[in-house]
Amino acid sequence: MTRPNRPTTHLEVLGRTWLTPHMLRLVVGGPNFGAFVNAGHADSYIKLVFDPAGRPYPTPVDVAHIRATAPREHWPMTRTYTVRSVDHESISIDFVIHGETGIAAPWARSAAPGDLVQFMGPGGAWSPKPEADYHLFVGDESAFPAIAAGVERLPNDARGAAIIEVDSHPLPLAAPAGMAIEWLVRRHSGDDATLAGRVQALDLPPGGDISVFAHGEREAVKRLRRVFSDLEVPRDRLSISGYWARGRDEDVFQAEKRTDVGRI
Ligand SMILES: Cc1cc2nc3c(=O)[nH]c(=O)nc-3n(C[C@H](O)[C@H](O)[C@H](O)COP(=O)(O)OP(=O)(O)OC[C@H]3O[C@@H](n4cnc5c(N)ncnc54)[C@H](O)[C@@H]3O)c2cc1C
Repeated sequence: MTRPNRPTTHLEVLGRTWLTPHMLRLVVGGPNFGAFVNAGHADSYIKLVFDPAGRPYPTPVDVAHIRATAPREHWPMTRTYTVRSVDHESISIDFVIHGETGIAAPWARSAAPGDLVQFMGPGGAWSPKPEADYHLFVGDESAFPAIAAGVERLPNDARGAAIIEVDSHPLPLAAPAGMAIEWLVRRHSGDDATLAGRVQALDLPPGGDISVFAHGEREAVKRLRRVFSDLEVPRDRLSISGYWARGRDEDVFQAEKRTDVGRI
């Protein structure tokens, strides 16, 4: 992933739609939309910026400057979200509503039209290679926005599979006829073996030019990484990383990612 641009963009909430009982789409845009730089990648992501109390800042904030000059308790907090789609005057962001804890998901759940949102980015650099013989997308709901954006970019004759683990309901996904879409319902919270087990059982085309996008909870992704290594998927055909870690907020997760504990 490339690092997002540092300047922040200020937009406002224009609308909200529940896609399932666990996934909320916010459409954001407004008068500042011209400042949004559309990087155009399937995995484009932004860093939503919240003040230390977990509220969006009302005015532009220089995150790097505050981090360089203020004590840690005054630092802004950031949360990473995929740009699900971009149209000519707004972007959509899909939030997993994962419970009472956290900053971004609770904020999204109570966000109303007119509320401000501030973010850095976008970063990201991955899109499916149209020439691949077989496209495989694997992930949980947090990766669904990027998976859906990737599947939507495939040519009409693309072949492959998308395997998505969800809490209960499938999500809206339009795919070429040659893409098998599979929804796995999570058996219990903390089950990190389901996705890897399913991928292991796949009949992947031998010797073909495969393209893989696999993201989600850190422990599940660790298992997937081992499976793709056993299947000898070349590193340059694989986009894989943890998007979050059970029992850790994003600050802890991102800090651990830079150490051996979180390296995957
Ligand atoms: C590149 C990238 C793109 C991402 N895109 C999206 C996206 O489009 N939509 C999206 O919803 N998420 C996405 N994520 C994941 C998101 O950044 C994390 O889920 C983040 O932790 C949510 O912040 P929060 O403030 O709600 O919870 P935090 O304060 O970070 O965490 C609070 C608690 O909630 C738990 N938690 C966090 N996320 C989840 C979850 N998904 N399910 C269950 N428990 C959870 C944590 O383990 C922790 O115990 C993305 C992550 C990355 C790195």
